[in-house]
Amino acid sequence: MNKHDIVIIGSGPGGYVAAIRCAQLGFNTALIERYKTLGGTCLNVGCIPSKALLDSSEHYHNAVSTFKEHGIELEKAPTVNFKQMIDRKAKVVETTCGGIDFLMKKNKVTVYQGYGSFKDKNTIIVKKEDKTEEILETKYTIIATGSKPSSLPSLPIDKKRIITSTEALALPELPKSMVIIGGGVIGLELGSVYQRLGTQVSVVEYMDKIIPTMDDDLGKELQRNLKKLGVKFYLSHKVTGAKNKGKSVTVTALDKKEQEITIEADYCLVAVGRKPFTENLGLENIGIQPNQRGQIEVNEHLQTSIPNIYAIGDVIRGAMLAHKAEEEGVFVAETIAGQKPHINYNLIPGVVYTWPEVAAVGQTEAQLKANGVKYKSGSFPMRALGRSRASMDIDGFVKVLADENTDEILGVHIIGARAADMIAEAVVAMEYRASAEDISRMSHAHPTYTEAIKEACLAATENRAMHI
Ligand code: FAD
Ligand code: NAD
Repeated sequence: MNKHDIVIIGSGPGGYVAAIRCAQLGFNTALIERYKTLGGTCLNVGCIPSKALLDSSEHYHNAVSTFKEHGIELEKAPTVNFKQMIDRKAKVVETTCGGIDFLMKKNKVTVYQGYGSFKDKNTIIVKKEDKTEEILETKYTIIATGSKPSSLPSLPIDKKRIITSTEALALPELPKSMVIIGGGVIGLELGSVYQRLGTQVSVVEYMDKIIPTMDDDLGKELQRNLKKLGVKFYLSHKVTGAKNKGKSVTVTALDKKEQEITIEADYCLVAVGRKPFTENLGLENIGIQPNQRGQIEVNEHLQTSIPNIYAIGDVIRGAMLAHKAEEEGVFVAETIAGQKPHINYNLIPGVVYTWPEVAAVGQTEAQLKANGVKYKSGSFPMRALGRSRASMDIDGFVKVLADENTDEILGVHIIGARAADMIAEAVVAMEYRASAEDISRMSHAHPTYTEAIKEACLAATENRAMHI
């Protein structure tokens, strides 16, 4: 019997970060992972590989579409070596996962490779690939088992032609065409990768807008940009089925008027969300029943109905984001250590790594209206910045929403070059409850894209942006 203070099941960004913090706090910590590599969805088949392909495809797209105007002449038109692109992505993943092995060793976390399940509230069984078992005794357990892709009854995933993001990150060849079901984050990021590389991408979305959970103006501007890139959109369409025809797939959907449309493509990527993963975890042995959405219920301390068992990340409520899972990993470790940590869920930023990038934090206009909050809005277009003209990234804007009476910033919504990095300023400002005027009076380096945040704050405070 192996004894530990804390056992963590699942090595994604929630689990491995929890393990590091537990070890830093002096706990004898163990981490269980069913796959051979650590890092979970994020490192293996999520954030990291998708960003590697987004970066590669963006380089190719620039070589084809903007180099000439920058005064860079290529002797031959650039071509895509898709295998090399996928191989490079695999190397990035390998190195990043290797980094987690290093961190576990450095922090003296015991790693068990195998499938973890509860025997009782203090006993965990690790089933290994060779069918042997190891029994762990633990004071506390943190469930960090993450999520897996959702599917639809009308779209049975066969992983060959009807695929999830996992297969889309490692296709054997560059497709000529792809239908993507779902105009959310995965659909638009992977759709961008393939459209940039020359695939004809068609996005079928149930709602009347893309990235429907973000501020409406962001969705409209992103759709305009992706249309320019060549992506076809079928909004307000209900998918009715997809048929694998061997070398292609036929997707059928009903439009707003209930007329059936048919789209033929090489692949159909189903990107309609993800669901919590708790299969064979032995939850029944400890009396935990996931809710209707498959989530493990937790209280404000992220504690399940069993006091010594906590849960974090995609397997519980809230945004399915790596940085949210990480914050929760630290939160639980510190809670077990008797500290009083805090997470401000309103200030978890959301990013879509398309180009232009989309990033937001705080409340959308729709949320403020629904909550009856009186607010003022200030926007500033990227095209008015010297930095944007220099780089030829003129699309997008920054929109700042501030309280009508106090001027406190309530939401920042950005679409534009490097929005993913720019949003950090808004998070810091809002965490310190800055007013729009506070930010507008701070010096922002020139020329940078961040000047658009300052200008949007000026516009929100007194409608006096300077450069427009
Ligand atoms: P996971 O990362 O899912 O890790 C859970 C781990 O637990 C897995 O390794 C699993 O094998 C293991 N496990 C499960 N059950 C057991 C068991 N019984 N025994 C042992 N091990 C088990 N988020 C962002 O913030 N930014 C992004 O850019 C981003 N891009 C994404 C791109 C794609 C294509 C996808 C699919 C997701 C992306 N996400 C992104 C979401 C992000 O990956 C998840 O929110 C994050 O990984 C959740 O972390 P987690 O620790 O809760 O779970
Ligand atoms: P999502 O929730 O972002 O988008 C799903 C989309 O599918 C929505 O627009 C929804 O309206 C649509 N949809 C649902 N059912 C449909 C149907 N029957 N027909 C047509 N459209 C339908 O989910 P996702 O894109 O699959 O991503 C899953 C999770 O992974 C998200 O929670 C996201 O936060 C996370 N993720 C994050 C990033 C990032 O942070 N950059 C990147 C990728 C994934």
